[in-house]
Amino acid sequence: MSVFSDKIKNFFGIGKTLSGEVFEDLTDLLVEGDFGAAGAYRLADELKDACKKEKVADGEGARKILAKLLEAMLLKAKKAVPPEGGGLAIILLLGVNGVGKTTTAAKLADKMRGEGKKPILAAGDTFRAAAIDQLKIHGERLGVRVVAHQHGGDPAAVVYDAVEAAQAGGGDVIIADTAGRMHTKSALVEELKKIDRIVESKAKDARYIKYLVLDATTGRNALAQAEIFHQAVSIDGVILTKFDSSAKGGVVFSLAEDLALPVIFLCTGEKYGDIKPFDSKTYAEEFSG
Ligand code: GDP
Repeated sequence: MSVFSDKIKNFFGIGKTLSGEVFEDLTDLLVEGDFGAAGAYRLADELKDACKKEKVADGEGARKILAKLLEAMLLKAKKAVPPEGGGLAIILLLGVNGVGKTTTAAKLADKMRGEGKKPILAAGDTFRAAAIDQLKIHGERLGVRVVAHQHGGDPAAVVYDAVEAAQAGGGDVIIADTAGRMHTKSALVEELKKIDRIVESKAKDARYIKYLVLDATTGRNALAQAEIFHQAVSIDGVILTKFDSSAKGGVVFSLAEDLALPVIFLCTGEKYGDIKPFDSKTYAEEFSG
């Protein structure tokens, strides 16, 4: 899957016998893979115990147990609210600038249109004129309606208009971009509370989902962002972008274990089709080589 999973595969390579040192080296490798020190120690210990219990003494056997332990970690995340289903869905994409929110909004719109839905893109990042323009370009390319206001406008008003457009028959899923101003947390929270109120008053029965977009190449920094956003506005799930490049991916396990946050989609490139649903079993198996 990645350069990093190849490292794990090589680590457990043919003929490896399991000594105490192996588990120490594995801890270092997991830390290198963005696992976090505490999680890496715990997992290496669990693996050591499991190998002992199951009388596994070879690398390949240990690697298989590791995949199972990793999958169990991912299952600690809460159940994701599916964007699919009847009625109106409102998907809010949150995250700091540059993580790929606007691109992901377009990818989701394309994906959902392909599934027979009628998406509306809402240009809720009114803070940056370029983000509004970018979303409009995507909308034109994809043939998807974009609801946008002026640069500097009220994001909640944009969502309000998008809900009106949907209710007038214009769509069944709203994908809203938002501003990524992490340095003013209280402003972000206020903005989102306002959007919450709009959704509550105008579309109470809608499936309202908040996805945090995180850049996989930022490693442990992504976890720090998730902690801040989750505490501020309670996130439903994560979309991990830029998984195509040098991303190692260990942070996904910390998201599940530390914050109970599920990853919903993995993005692996800049093209519209470069998005796929996240599957715990597949991810755990691929991560472990
Ligand atoms: P935003 O500021 O969060 O809205 O981020 P953008 O959507 O503008 O994306 C920032 C940059 O990341 C752009 O150059 C995108 O093309 C790029 N990008 C977004 N998603 C991916 C991805 O999954 N893989 C790669 N390689 N690049 C991505």
